[in-house]
Amino acid sequence: MATTRRPEASWASSEGVARSMRSNRRRDTSPELALRQLLHAAGCRYRVDYAPGLDRRRRADIVFTKLRIAVFVDGCFWHSCPVHGTIPKTNADYWVPKLERNRTRDEETTRLLESDGWTVLRIWEHEAADAACVRVLAVVDLKRRTMGTNQEAVAFGGTSTDVAPLRPDRGSTGHRPRMRGECGCGNSAG
Ligand SMILES: [Zn+2]
Repeated sequence: MATTRRPEASWASSEGVARSMRSNRRRDTSPELALRQLLHAAGCRYRVDYAPGLDRRRRADIVFTKLRIAVFVDGCFWHSCPVHGTIPKTNADYWVPKLERNRTRDEETTRLLESDGWTVLRIWEHEAADAACVRVLAVVDLKRRTMGTNQEAVAFGGTSTDVAPLRPDRGSTGHRPRMRGECGCGNSAG
């Protein structure tokens, strides 16, 4: 098919690079798993690798649907962490715009969600899981108190924090997974 393959297409199609490019949007990374485990231990219920907004291609790593909190655990390389972000010397022509696009997209996603009433938390993969957990719990607690009065007033730390049936509040687009067990939490409600 590709008769006029651009140079970067040929190297990018090599197995190693293809694999690392896929990891741009991977789930279940170990920093993310560690954070999920701590949140779960704190009694949180959440969705994993879930699109909180209307754009289904913009997925967050941990999503509290009722509280409208979207947590992204960003990889240091792919999201240009100020501490560890680097640009590979080889194929810089490819990587510079690529990483720049990632950054622009991150900002865009944050803006889109925030304008839709979501609280967005971005956590670097290098952050300690317990510190990240404290950050998330602080936001969960805050939103629970500000939103919680007319919703379910369950004390945080209980077993049913974000566990109520999903409301079809996204215009019934039908993309909300119902029974996929992807909350990352083994507890059953109540
Ligand atoms: Zn980093």
